[in-house]
Amino acid sequence: VTIVYSGAYSFRKKTQGASLFLLAWGAGLLGALLFSSQMQGWIPNNLVTQNALKLGIILNVTLLSFSLVTNIQKLRQEKASLEKEAKENYQLALVDALTGVPNRRAFDERLAVELERCRRDKTNIALLMIDVDFFKNFNDAYGHQLGDDTLIRVALIMRNCLRRPTDMLFRYGGEEFSVILADTDIEGATNTANRIMEAIRGLCIPHKESPFKQVTVSIGLAVAENAKIESEEFIQFADEALYKAKGQGRNQVVCAECEHSAVVNIGNYFKNSPKDTL
Ligand code: GH3
Ligand code: MG
Ligand code: MG
Repeated sequence: VTIVYSGAYSFRKKTQGASLFLLAWGAGLLGALLFSSQMQGWIPNNLVTQNALKLGIILNVTLLSFSLVTNIQKLRQEKASLEKEAKENYQLALVDALTGVPNRRAFDERLAVELERCRRDKTNIALLMIDVDFFKNFNDAYGHQLGDDTLIRVALIMRNCLRRPTDMLFRYGGEEFSVILADTDIEGATNTANRIMEAIRGLCIPHKESPFKQVTVSIGLAVAENAKIESEEFIQFADEALYKAKGQGRNQVVCAECEHSAVVNIGNYFKNSPKDTL
């Protein structure tokens, strides 16, 4: 059965195994033909014709083995390339096509892993939810294409604001991004959030429909101690902080008032009003 499958496979894939398969059975048949012809007295009886059947069988088995080995190698190559393709597809499914940063699916997977790790290591974890201000107006004023280009620039600069290899930026959806900062306390998270906000201000992308006259972001921040929190709740805290940042005028960072946070309510932490800095 193996030999039949192997033969069928090599013909289907047109591998070198197909020629070996044909040669093997050709040699076997020729051996049998020579041997029986010699037995019938149709051809001379000599050392070759006497042993033709044995030689045919030996050649048949040897060539079939080679054919089998060739097919196994081919199958291994196919398996490796399929695995590589599957891995690439999986990676592609985790990356946002527009900005090139990991997408929402990657975020969900990563957050669960990082929360688990922080729980195990008894460390802090911070989450930033970042939303571009007045972006609908931006699209309306400058067109969707410039909107897309702006999202790419914003994503790039945010990624450059992250210092540690474990800091990760994601496109959460639309004009909203998120950052997971493992093993980070409130101070570290606040610094990163401010750095991001300043970097985007530093881009000085004109936005005539914004009161700030340039593209800005609002950031909601939540920190969990020992990650004693579930993903949904953690996102909700950061989201609530973001909502508050929007309500307080946008273009600012607000930390969630959450019981899991190392510091409760640092709404007034930012001494300079963001509006004053522009
Ligand atoms: P806010 O300050 O409250 O966040 O206002 P906003 O206008 O940014 O928020 P809203 O949720 O009303 O609108 C989000 C806009 O983001 C609407 C949508 O067209 C735009 N947007 C979302 N994804 C993309 C995208 O991939 N490309 C472009 N160009 N625009 C996008
Ligand atoms: Mg927005
Ligand atoms: Mg939004």
